[in-house]
Amino acid sequence: MKNKFLFYAAVFALLLLSGCGGTQVYAERTVFALGTDVSVRVYDMREKEANLVIEKALARLYEIEATASAKMSESELYYVNQNAYEGDVFISDELFFLLKEGLFYSELTGGAFDIALGGVIELWEAGIERGQGIPSDDEIAAALENSGFEYLVLNENEQTVRFLKSGLKINLGAFAKGYAADEMKRVLLQNGTKNAVLNLGGDIITIGDKDGGGWLIGLADPLEAGEICAKLRIFDQAVVTSGNYERYFIYENKRYHHIIDRKTGYPSESGAISATIITESAMTADALSTALFVGGGDLIEILSDVGYILIEEDMRFTFSEDINIEFDS
Ligand code: ADP
Ligand code: MG
Repeated sequence: MKNKFLFYAAVFALLLLSGCGGTQVYAERTVFALGTDVSVRVYDMREKEANLVIEKALARLYEIEATASAKMSESELYYVNQNAYEGDVFISDELFFLLKEGLFYSELTGGAFDIALGGVIELWEAGIERGQGIPSDDEIAAALENSGFEYLVLNENEQTVRFLKSGLKINLGAFAKGYAADEMKRVLLQNGTKNAVLNLGGDIITIGDKDGGGWLIGLADPLEAGEICAKLRIFDQAVVTSGNYERYFIYENKRYHHIIDRKTGYPSESGAISATIITESAMTADALSTALFVGGGDLIEILSDVGYILIEEDMRFTFSEDINIEFDS
């Protein structure tokens, strides 16, 4: 048995199982960025060397946060959100790339994933994070009126962005963590790392194949906190889960989570309780896992190039054939 490591996807803790072969040596750092815990584990490198490499990966993470955070008032995205209705705003290569990719996935998923739902998201976040209760139907309708990727215009030649609605706001919360994971992986690889795992609040990206046996990732049970309901064997890939059980609040006995369906302006109710994508790029996986959560079973037909696991109410599993999934019983 070669796989000794079990990581919880979609929960913040990594759980290391002791297996045969004794304890593996690794260097690890955990920081808070992009609104979540980010941890980097590097195996098979001397500690001092590993720590230096991890520092470089974290520097890249902070750069991306300073570009793509919708909340940090000094971020580039924040500036765009304040100014892009007034006129074209010239943006960095990095933000242009993110918006272009974000638009691509927004179109591909028919708006199930939509990078321009910031106004609606902010309304709900006020409720979720500050316990202010749910927004009124009028507030939601007004925010929806000023939302949607079709009102976001990119000019490739000028490298500018422009909004066609005054209240439009971009939010990359379903996307930026995945991109950061890909970029951190790139930095680790460039610096000679052969085996590593990154966990950005449950978005997991792996490097290497860990002694040939792959990494064993635990999929969080959406109904039982702290339990896992399946295991996945991963080789050099990313696993990203969107669920309704991580961030939510209860108001008048009803549970509201943080993933919004633009068709209603309310937290999505597709019947999905957990949506996982497995593929090389964590950015792709992040966008598509959010889309799969919002779209539910209807979205599966567009997922031809990636591995997926959809769990719907009553723990009904649907998954692609190409993934290595294991159930205990
Ligand atoms: P998590 O952040 O828990 O990993 P997701 O990747 O699904 O989960 O991202 C959810 C976040 O993305 C929300 O907190 C919000 O900022 C934003 N968001 C919510 N609904 C959508 C949506 N339909 N499309 C794109 N972004 C969304
Ligand atoms: Mg996502």
